[in-house]
Amino acid sequence: MLRTVIATTAVLGLAAGCAPDPQTPVKIRALVLSGNGQYVPEEVELKTVDDIVGLSGTVADLHGGARIVYDSRDQELTNATTAEAFAAALLKGEGRDVAANYINQDDVLWPADFHTWNMVTAYYNLERAFDYFREVTNIPLTDFKKPVKTYYFPEFVLADIQPGPLKDNALYFSAMESFLVLPFDQLQRAPLSINAGVITHEYSHRIFNLKAYGGSPFPEALISWSTAGGPNPGANILKSFDEGLADLHAYGATCRSKSGCDTRFLSSSFHGPDQGPLADERDLAKTDRCIDDALRDSLRDNSLSQFSGKEYRVGTILASALYQAGEATGQRDILLRSIVAAYNDETTATPGILQLTRRYIGDQSKFTLAVAAGAIITHVTDLRLKEAVCNELMDHLQIPRDQLVGTNNPNLCPPSAAGGTTCPRLGAD
Ligand SMILES: [Zn+2]
Repeated sequence: MLRTVIATTAVLGLAAGCAPDPQTPVKIRALVLSGNGQYVPEEVELKTVDDIVGLSGTVADLHGGARIVYDSRDQELTNATTAEAFAAALLKGEGRDVAANYINQDDVLWPADFHTWNMVTAYYNLERAFDYFREVTNIPLTDFKKPVKTYYFPEFVLADIQPGPLKDNALYFSAMESFLVLPFDQLQRAPLSINAGVITHEYSHRIFNLKAYGGSPFPEALISWSTAGGPNPGANILKSFDEGLADLHAYGATCRSKSGCDTRFLSSSFHGPDQGPLADERDLAKTDRCIDDALRDSLRDNSLSQFSGKEYRVGTILASALYQAGEATGQRDILLRSIVAAYNDETTATPGILQLTRRYIGDQSKFTLAVAAGAIITHVTDLRLKEAVCNELMDHLQIPRDQLVGTNNPNLCPPSAAGGTTCPRLGAD
């Protein structure tokens, strides 16, 4: 499809470019997933954009050509004493505002080159993710803070991992409070910027940071737990929840799209023999995912760096268990809203994830799966949904029933919650 789009825009590009300054909402063409699995140019509206050429507005501000380098030996980074100084030290090349090109056809803006298609679609996807969190999970407008700086096709180097710039990825980089949409290399069929599910996944990390990490570029619990030496079970659980819930929200947002609910939203970008398995590994509709002894032990005994990669496995088990509870009870959106409410809650009887990490900041072994899952469970008020969530989590994550039910845990699971029989019992600790 993209090949066709590039050809089409090359033809349109022969007409004069323009620098329009329309009022919002702006009628514009973006690449949208159609029912047959192809991305096609479709007329959409951008409701929050103030500058259509620079692609900035209340949701995001796109910025091109930056160079961002993380190198643990970098003295500028070592010397940085504030979050702002650290972010500034990461930015080795400022880059510039993007400049989108359009053709105006009957008051609809058509992107006039490949990057404009890609950038407009990225902004549109960020706006839809923002709409999802505002309208489905009821996050008040003022909680979103400023527009998110979004680095488009930056040179992003993690020098400790590989010397050259990374490709084929999109990420929320909390140290810079920014999204990074990296250049593509292998993922040419649907670059990640046009995959609405991938953009919502990244946006979910931003929301998790704002709420469960208190909006800190360097979340206190995550940093203190992961630098503690020895096993980092609390940090491993936080990372697993952040990843799994990002997939669940990305799925929830697809249900508002024209092409409908999609548990395999990764498959339009990741396909073929090399990348295809990823969409299967993360497919939320798979009903028989189970934590096993080895994964349970890694969660408990690994440092965060040893655990790297396994947060997706635990996260997918969590997300597919929650998915089943939401679908079986017909309460998907209510569950998604309860999950976001669980990120941050000062109420004594129903503490949020942030408050629980603070409670156990001195002993991360107490921030268990039962405690983290308990934050979600206490925020589900409907009894039938609560029971379904409890049963699925006891079953797939093998959280011991006595940690969720009983007089010691009056706000967690009802006595009627008995777990499930999909997953085998784990061996002794
Ligand atoms: Zn992620």
